[in-house]
Amino acid sequence: MAILVAGGAGYIGSHVCKMLHSKGYKVIVYDNLSHGYKEFAKWGEFIPGDISDVELLDNIFKHYHIDAVMHFCAYIEVGESVVDPQKYYENNVGNTIKLLKVMRKNNIDKFIFSSTAAVYGMPEKVPIKEDDKKDPINPYGKSKWMVEQMLEDYDKAYGLKSIRFRYFNAAGADEEGEIGEAHKPETHLIPLILDAAIGRRDSIKIFGTNYDTKDGTCIRDFVHVNDLADAHIKGLEYLLDGGKTDYFNLGSGEGYSVYEVIEAVKRVTKKNFKVVETDRRPGDPAYLIADSTKAKEKLGWEVKYSLDEIILTAWNWHRNM
Ligand code: UDP
Repeated sequence: MAILVAGGAGYIGSHVCKMLHSKGYKVIVYDNLSHGYKEFAKWGEFIPGDISDVELLDNIFKHYHIDAVMHFCAYIEVGESVVDPQKYYENNVGNTIKLLKVMRKNNIDKFIFSSTAAVYGMPEKVPIKEDDKKDPINPYGKSKWMVEQMLEDYDKAYGLKSIRFRYFNAAGADEEGEIGEAHKPETHLIPLILDAAIGRRDSIKIFGTNYDTKDGTCIRDFVHVNDLADAHIKGLEYLLDGGKTDYFNLGSGEGYSVYEVIEAVKRVTKKNFKVVETDRRPGDPAYLIADSTKAKEKLGWEVKYSLDEIILTAWNWHRNM
C-alpha cells in the first residue's frame, strides 16, 4: 500500500509517517518545507513540492500507484488568519481543491483530512460532540470547515471517501526524541512553557485569568501526537476496508487549565520559571474539551498518553532541539 502524506515533514505529519513506515506502508513524504523540516522527512521517500503543483502530483500519483492521501498541509495560526484571510482561503481551501482534483484524475478515492476543534467556534457546552453546532469564528477555522463540507459533496458526487479528524490540542513528541513540535513562529502553550523552563524565554504569559473556569484560565484538552497518529492509521485502515466517509473528534476528554499545565511542566521538568498574567487573547473559548466516544466506538481508538507523559516526551525532545 502506498500512501502520500502531504505535509509529512511537519509536526503531526512526521509522526504519522513514522508510524505508517513502522507498519510496513510505502510512504511518500510530500512537503514544500515552508513549515516542515527536511530532517523530519525520513520515514519514506521525500519529494519536495507544493500541493498546488498539480503536474508534479499527477506524475507522483501515476508513478507510485498511490492508494490514499493524507493531507496535513495548512496554515494554522488563528491570529494571522484574521489579518490575512486570503492566505488561509487560498492555501487551506484553494490548494486543497487542486489536490483533490488531481486525486480524482488518478482515481484515488481515499482521503484523510486534518481538521480542528476550531470548527466549533465558541462551543455552547463541553465535552463537544461531532454533531454540535459548527460556527467557526476566524478564517482558519472557517477554512477547515469549508473543506469539511466540500468533502461531503465530493463523496456524494464523485464517491471520494474521506475521514476528517478534528484535533483538539495536539502536543507531545516522539518517544525516541527524533521529532517534535517546533512551529515557526511558536504560538502553542506547551512548547512556549518548555522554552521558559529551558531559559530560552524569560517567562510564560498567561492570556486571561478572568474566564468563567475553576481558576480563571482557559481549559484545554491535550492529546499526544502519537495518539493522533494512531487514529490516522485506524482511519486509513477503515477506508481501505471499504469504510464510509466520516468525521471524528480527537481529544482525551480531559480538560486542564493553563495554570494546571504550567504546574505540570514545573513538576515534570523540575524547573521553575516566571509566569506573567496578561490580558485575554482574542478568540479563545473558555473551554475546549472533546467527546471522542465516536472514534472509540467506530475506530477502536483510545488515548494512551496522560498530560504528564505528553509533557515529558515534549521536554525530552525540546531541550535537545
Ligand atoms: N496560552 C497562554 N499563553 C501562551 C500561549 C497560549 O496562556 O503563551 C493559552 C491560550 O490563550 C489558550 C491555551 O493556552 O487558552 C492554549 O493555546 P494554544 O495556542 O496552545 O492552542 P489553542 O487552544 O489556541 O489551539
